[in-house]
Amino acid sequence: MARHDHHSVSSTDINTRDAGNVTPLALATRALRAGRQGGRGDALVGGIVQSTTFLQDGDDVGSPVEFAYSRCSNPTVSELERALAELEGAEDCVTFSTGLGAETALMLTLLSAGDHVILGSAIYGGTTRLVQQVLSRFGVEHTFVDARDAENVQRALQPRTKLVFIESPANPTLVLTDIEAVAKVTRAAGAILAVDNTFLTPIVQRPLDLGADVSVYSTTKHIEGHSTALGGALVTRNTELADKLRFIRKSTGGIQSPLNAWLTTRGIRTLALRIREQSRNALRIARWLSTHDDVAKVHYPGLERFPQRALALKQHIGDLHGGVVSFELRGGVPAGREFLRSLELCSLVEHVGSVETLVTHPATMTHGDVPRHQREAVGITDGLVRLSVGLEDPVDVISDLDQAITRAHAKKAAERELAAALAK
Ligand SMILES: *Cc1c(COP(=O)(O)O)cnc(C)c1O
Repeated sequence: MARHDHHSVSSTDINTRDAGNVTPLALATRALRAGRQGGRGDALVGGIVQSTTFLQDGDDVGSPVEFAYSRCSNPTVSELERALAELEGAEDCVTFSTGLGAETALMLTLLSAGDHVILGSAIYGGTTRLVQQVLSRFGVEHTFVDARDAENVQRALQPRTKLVFIESPANPTLVLTDIEAVAKVTRAAGAILAVDNTFLTPIVQRPLDLGADVSVYSTTKHIEGHSTALGGALVTRNTELADKLRFIRKSTGGIQSPLNAWLTTRGIRTLALRIREQSRNALRIARWLSTHDDVAKVHYPGLERFPQRALALKQHIGDLHGGVVSFELRGGVPAGREFLRSLELCSLVEHVGSVETLVTHPATMTHGDVPRHQREAVGITDGLVRLSVGLEDPVDVISDLDQAITRAHAKKAAERELAAALAK
């Protein structure tokens, strides 16, 4: 991995820090220059190469060149790919127009008609839709498993299982999967393990260090961090797989755009700082929510009472647990509605990972189409609220949540009566 240590850090320090024992500081340092090339006289910040095509000379014809056409590769996109690979200590990274574009390319690379994929049951809705409603038309079979127990993955393996795809923490309940345990059974079966690491980023969790083959990112979320560029990335140490992913990208046309790549690389410069601050703010807000009478439950891996606390400490770096918190407001949908209506500072959107605190009500928003029993089976109750904690002073977020919860409960009784009347 490229390192730029100009000062005197002893090689022992560097070795310890690279041996999976990576401190947030080492990652913060790395994030500031990751992907950058060039030397004296070059621009400190790389440019945005918008050109769709690149000059060749007669001698090049027929031989491979680094840049020929921007559907295949582009210098601004390559800078982002180097940056993400360096951050995760990986050999390679391939980026796409969106997170789902990345997932589509991964599945088209690994799965053919008759092949089988295992999906963690608590997984991003778009991933479920891609497998259930699109790939199924091409003869790809799938099984959902509760991946909290690696034995469930083991039991679901079939001779034609080529891919196991999990997400930890899960959205929006923050249930964790033991990546190391799932990696063991997946590897033994000769399949590929992909982990959607969108919620934590390489600053908090490094799936490849835990035995996964591919880290999957919607860079649209925390990595770009400012809600200004869609993007997706697949990070891997398997260079043969990376070549296959690039072939699929060239063949299907899903590459990241240069402008979005540039914005995403700029986001990476402050990624460690943002994630650290968002994790700290999230913990403070989660602790406050835990003491509130009108809050039935709080899900956050940083809380001492989190059911998988030991696993959180094992697989998350530096006791940081990311910016996403979810909680159950008492009073069901009516209280939830009034709470959302009452928020003054936090923004109500279907999104996570931006600099502002964002709020989602999964039962009526992201999972509105999912039948109640199916929602509740994965822990999405009517009162569940998801927070993506931003960079505000947490005291301001707490006071906004406090006034909104108070108003929700003042109206709760009246709303319940109305709901009961409407249901008749
Ligand atoms: C948003 C998201 C995706 C999809 O990414 P897009 O960039 O919106 O296509 C995948 N996984 C997770 C966990 C996400 O939050």
